Amino acid sequence: MFQRKTIILGLVIIMLLTSLTEAFAATQPLSGIKIVVDPGHGGWDPGAVGANGLTEKQVNLQVSEALRNCLVEYGGATVKMTRTNDTHISLKSRVSMANSWNADRFISIHHNGSINSAHNGTAVYSSTKGSWQSHDLRNKVQNQLLTMTGLRDLGANTANFYVLNNTKMPAILTEASFITNPQEEAELRSPNYLWREAYYIYQGIADHFK
Ligand SMILES: [Zn+2]
Repeated sequence: MFQRKTIILGLVIIMLLTSLTEAFAATQPLSGIKIVVDPGHGGWDPGAVGANGLTEKQVNLQVSEALRNCLVEYGGATVKMTRTNDTHISLKSRVSMANSWNADRFISIHHNGSINSAHNGTAVYSSTKGSWQSHDLRNKVQNQLLTMTGLRDLGANTANFYVLNNTKMPAILTEASFITNPQEEAELRSPNYLWREAYYIYQGIADHFK
């Protein structure tokens, strides 16, 4: 009798835990979604460089690492990064990494540069040949980034960037701000500012999957 009661109690506990786990998984907006995060440039290629020496490759990597954490911890997504340190990865390798993994989305993180140091603003790109999902993802991320940066809206645009044109899944490329603007360069040195940028990109991705 005691044994039977114990078995029934055990079964009830297991059922309760299973439904709790399922409920928790359901509250994670990106559960089961595979996302590639692509920090632009690296190694011998610094990307754009600020007047005071901050490199785009470094900022891109920091934002990408924070974005990966947001996607995994808040979203429940599965994430692969095209690089996790200061190495040069060809555009072709970045694309084939995403295509061979059958990723659901590809997010390339960049920051803009200009010979005019006063220039600043926020832009996000999808491929000219992109699907409606890629344009929707781009629009949602652009909206969130504008809220965060408060900078001039340079638009949700299309472009023929290699990583956007050659990835098989919906792909976007973010240019949240201009590293060549000295005021912006100072902001981009702050880990808090970079974390916020990543968090708002994450929010845009979550909006897209709602
Ligand atoms: Zn770049």
